[in-house]
Amino acid sequence: MDTLIGVLTPAFLLHLFFHVAVPVAMAALFFRKDFKHATLLMLSGILIDIDHLAANPIVDPDRCSVGYHLLHSFWLIPVYVALALYPKTRLVGFGLVIHIILDTAECVRTGSPLLLPVSF
Ligand SMILES: [Zn+2]
Repeated sequence: MDTLIGVLTPAFLLHLFFHVAVPVAMAALFFRKDFKHATLLMLSGILIDIDHLAANPIVDPDRCSVGYHLLHSFWLIPVYVALALYPKTRLVGFGLVIHIILDTAECVRTGSPLLLPVSF
């Protein structure tokens, strides 16, 4: 089993950086008047990574999170989009959608296949 230090490649660190930088940048660009509040709510999207604790290894840069971990399930993505569309949950929804987009981009970058629930 890899240690956490072993999986912290520069590319993976960049991925983790984006999980913080993109919500902060979005808050700075679109929610300037309420920057702190918007930043904290959008950063809360990273909390769905708690589901990694149920996997072994907990962190595997070569494993695609989307479709693998419970809170990264395909059926939850429309729920996250719905949260982003509803005004009272918009910021949390944005954070969740940003999180899924970044994780999907990481899957594409690493070439790890999305575990689609249906085959074509
Ligand atoms: Zn994730």
